[in-house]
Amino acid sequence: MRVGAHVSVAGGVDNAVDNQRDVGGNCGQIFTHSPQVWQDPNVDDDEATAFREGTAEHLDGPWVIHSSYLVNLCTPKDDLRAKSVDSMQREVDAADKLGIEYVNVHLGAHTGAGVDGGLDNAVSALDELDVPEGVTVLVESDAGSGTKLGGDFEHLAAVLEESTHDLGVCLDTAHAFAAGYDLSTPAGVDETVDEFDDVIGLEHLHCLHLNDSKHACGTNKDEHAHVGEGEIGVDGMRRIVGHPDLRDRPFVLETPTEDGKSFAWNIDRVHELAAE
Ligand SMILES: [Zn+2]
Ligand SMILES: [Zn+2]
Repeated sequence: MRVGAHVSVAGGVDNAVDNQRDVGGNCGQIFTHSPQVWQDPNVDDDEATAFREGTAEHLDGPWVIHSSYLVNLCTPKDDLRAKSVDSMQREVDAADKLGIEYVNVHLGAHTGAGVDGGLDNAVSALDELDVPEGVTVLVESDAGSGTKLGGDFEHLAAVLEESTHDLGVCLDTAHAFAAGYDLSTPAGVDETVDEFDDVIGLEHLHCLHLNDSKHACGTNKDEHAHVGEGEIGVDGMRRIVGHPDLRDRPFVLETPTEDGKSFAWNIDRVHELAAE
């Protein structure tokens, strides 16, 4: 199975390959720069070559670039929209340079534009991008707090439907659970997968962010827990990693070390649950 972690690129993006191997992952995710500030991905040619070669030699892939947290595609504000589009363009160009298949983004918050207005803004912002061949933009399911969109599968489906790009979806299990999709039981997982297929279509599901949740279903609170240690729990997680429509997709872990439980611990746990 393909499972890996969100790893650091400190000291050079090529270090992500060794960081991934160290935790026992064979695919994974990176930020190209600090996600809390507007900053350009700074990838020099030698690092890019080393990253590509290391990935080809040691990993299965895919890699995902997670875009900056400042990006807000749904915003009605012109300056924020322009910065968001510019930032996304640099991420898809970095992905092209690194041979990375996916750039993942949250739709963002409509901040008063309304759900339909916000979704329209997201579509038109995405459509401004010049996405290189071989790179696919994934919209991530959101926990849906405040005016953030992407909590309902219908939001993601609307953006996929309306955009001129061939977009995909990244399903974050903690976010979907917080947004009201009950993944804590095998039956709940099966129902959620069926609903995803009905509303979006499983052919558009390219990746999962495999996170448990510290908060209950439907609370819209986004706080990750280690696999099986949160409110989704062992029964839900076992079904997610074993579900016939999910198990062949890449699983990316995003919950940093806490209480002595590292990415390596989580990756081992996923393999154990998948083998049960
Ligand atoms: Zn995310
Ligand atoms: Zn996520």
